[in-house]
Amino acid sequence: MDASAVSRSCVFCGQSGLTPEHVYPRWLREVFPSIKNEKGYHEVCGPDGVIKRRWIARPFTVVVSRVCRSCNSGWMSELETDGRPFLEPMMHGQKVSLSPEAQTAVATWAVKTAMMLQYVPGELVVIHPAHYTELFQKKRQPPDTCMVWASACRQDMSPPLITTWSRSLILETEPAPPAAADTISGYRVTFRVNQLALQIWGYNVESLREPYLIQQVDYGGYAPFIHTIWPTSGTELTWPPPGLFASDGLEAFAMRIT
Ligand SMILES: [Zn+2]
Repeated sequence: MDASAVSRSCVFCGQSGLTPEHVYPRWLREVFPSIKNEKGYHEVCGPDGVIKRRWIARPFTVVVSRVCRSCNSGWMSELETDGRPFLEPMMHGQKVSLSPEAQTAVATWAVKTAMMLQYVPGELVVIHPAHYTELFQKKRQPPDTCMVWASACRQDMSPPLITTWSRSLILETEPAPPAAADTISGYRVTFRVNQLALQIWGYNVESLREPYLIQQVDYGGYAPFIHTIWPTSGTELTWPPPGLFASDGLEAFAMRIT
């Protein structure tokens, strides 16, 4: 198959017949009606943490044509419906209770959105293709091989509305992972909409499943600032977490190596 044929296939199911998809859904424009003059920053970072490209785009206007009509109007649309009742108060920094089902809905929406963000022109595609396939197969829950964290941010973030960071990671783990390689690659995609930041973190090694990932996580001083929403803990979480990120704290969280 030549490259142009691949580029015309849906990144989730492989079907042809692609339709434009808003990276950030249109309902966000209803949630933030005063965005006309707002700016959103996109930053792309490599494994060394160096910013390769930074640009400004009006929030919630970016469209990519990488998914088919069936995915776009089917399960992806359902993720918006499932997630919005929780995402909206979280984005406004309002108190909300997150059941395990709600955590799953928000986490799945986060993974889907991060996967679309990868195809914004100039972005770095860091998420493993197998994770797209796994999301398509599961549809209403994230791949087992990734984790999702949710953080609350202060009201006075800069820039005001959205920020995106993508980075690939090369990790040397101790003890050695349950796979042949000593060095494994992974990714971290972080994006913020107003007062909600979501981070998706995963390894590009299919044999590394959830229990291993959790053992490897070093929350450091970030524990008060984050809720792990995937895999879910099985208990209800109160939103927001005790700590609220300022702009510099969120950036450090987005860019950390471990
Ligand atoms: Zn599709």
